[in-house]
Amino acid sequence: MTDERRIRSIAIVGGGTAGWLAASILARAAPAGTAISVIESGQIAPIGVGEATIPPFIDLLRFLGIDEPEFVRTTGATYKLGIVYRDWSLPGHEYWHPFGTFGTTIERRPFHHYWHRALAANRNPRIGEFSLCAALGEAGKFRFPDPRAQGAAAGLRYALHFDATTVAGFLRQFAAGLGVQRLERTVATATRRADGFIEELVFADGGRLQADLYIDCSGFQGVLIEQVLHSGYVDWRALLPCDRAVAAPTAITGNRPPYTLASARASGWQWRIPLQHRFGNGYVFSSAHVSDAAATDDLLGKAGTPLAEPRVLRFTAGHRCHLWSHNCVALGLASGFLEPLESTSIQLVINGVFNLLDHFPDRAFDPANIAAYNRELTEELEQIRDFLILHYWGTPRDDTPFWRDVHAVRLPESLRQRIELYRGTGRIRTRPGELFTDLSWFYIFAGLGMRPAAPDPMIDEAVLARAENALYSLRQNIAREVRAARSHESYFAPGQPAAAQGLPASAETA
Ligand SMILES: Cc1cc2nc3c(=O)[nH]c(=O)nc-3n(C[C@H](O)[C@H](O)[C@H](O)COP(=O)(O)OP(=O)(O)OC[C@H]3O[C@@H](n4cnc5c(N)ncnc54)[C@H](O)[C@@H]3O)c2cc1C
Repeated sequence: MTDERRIRSIAIVGGGTAGWLAASILARAAPAGTAISVIESGQIAPIGVGEATIPPFIDLLRFLGIDEPEFVRTTGATYKLGIVYRDWSLPGHEYWHPFGTFGTTIERRPFHHYWHRALAANRNPRIGEFSLCAALGEAGKFRFPDPRAQGAAAGLRYALHFDATTVAGFLRQFAAGLGVQRLERTVATATRRADGFIEELVFADGGRLQADLYIDCSGFQGVLIEQVLHSGYVDWRALLPCDRAVAAPTAITGNRPPYTLASARASGWQWRIPLQHRFGNGYVFSSAHVSDAAATDDLLGKAGTPLAEPRVLRFTAGHRCHLWSHNCVALGLASGFLEPLESTSIQLVINGVFNLLDHFPDRAFDPANIAAYNRELTEELEQIRDFLILHYWGTPRDDTPFWRDVHAVRLPESLRQRIELYRGTGRIRTRPGELFTDLSWFYIFAGLGMRPAAPDPMIDEAVLARAENALYSLRQNIAREVRAARSHESYFAPGQPAAAQGLPASAETA
């Protein structure tokens, strides 16, 4: 790339979580000398929900050089070891989708094949015996990973639950420290050049701003990607029928568990997310099956008295036809939406920005480069879509019209093939780079009670017998770690010294 063609300025429209995440990452990693500004409207409130993350969020904090204990304190965060699904297969039944390692690889085979062989041999293994995250979660405990440990503590992974509004504020300050300029303006529209590229932003007060690259983080409305560039929308409502959520915070009662609770309900599912200062609750539902008022009553009946007026949010599962169009990249809700069952939206923003860095353009905006970005991001969205559909389609529930309807969904071919392979052989083939690994898929298949027709022939009884000693030590190691760990609650007890309030193990012992 010649210097004359380099991107000199980036304008990010929107100051929600997506806008400030994009600004922070780009300010750290875009080529030196690129001017970055964020335009946020004082008139249009951000969505402000988005409270659960997945482990790569911790990697992002490290990449940005953000002090994790300070971030945890400021954003009222708690630690998350996975998701507990309640009532998804049978009333009262729970299953785990934990983070971190599960069992151990024996003779090159992933551990879930041993699991199937053990089931076939009429043993009754439990996820918590072989997953430290699930075991700690069940005990209401938490510890940080220890990369130097020999056992399960080395493979522990965790994420955060946090207050989304304060996260945007935290990142705003962080990005300002890296030289990002903030403009409080409302974008009314943008002008376009003869070749269709965005020329400049036009503000409601008549002002204008020109940049080489525009990032649309303006939320569901997609001020640039849709209203100016008319990208179009790939609508997945026929595959993922939930299209609304009602959210309401409640006071802390009892202990804060180190996991997200996702309970199946008559017409969708309900989240319960512990923060330091409140619980976040929400009912994600299908408006074809329940009214806003009935869903709100249902939520409050379960969650208790709200601390603020419940908010109903509408969305359409799917994504923009072009996530990157001309000189504009859409991120966050402006790019599309997949419901929060696996806490993926914020991670999709992060992956989108890193992908943009991998495809960082010059002012020629090579169409092949843009097409490659769109292909990779679309594939990622389709993989997550398939994973979410499985949670619904795979359940044996059929007690309400909603649950009967989700079984009638016509599965995408990609998902149908995965399910068939698993049902026949227990095998799960994911490609490198997929957000959800074979392990994640296994937890959902197994949690919903789906079993392969036969265990992997590579793992026979003799291999299982040879593995017994290793599995016994692993179970002992996990039990020991759980006994030694502190309660999750103790990390947020008033008066705890800073080191006890969230310093990773390596820093605590340094
Ligand atoms: C019910 C629900 C639950 C969710 N739960 C999770 C979760 O648990 N985990 C997760 O990862 N994600 C979750 N999400 C997604 C998460 O909320 C979003 O991905 C995240 O908040 C990013 O939002 P955003 O910044 O794209 O949009 P918004 O938060 O809507 O921000 C848009 C910004 O654009 C600005 N803006 C809009 N129009 C203009 C304009 N014309 N001019 C200037 N500025 C403008 C607004 O002022 C605002 O600052 C959830 C979403 C919903 C709906």
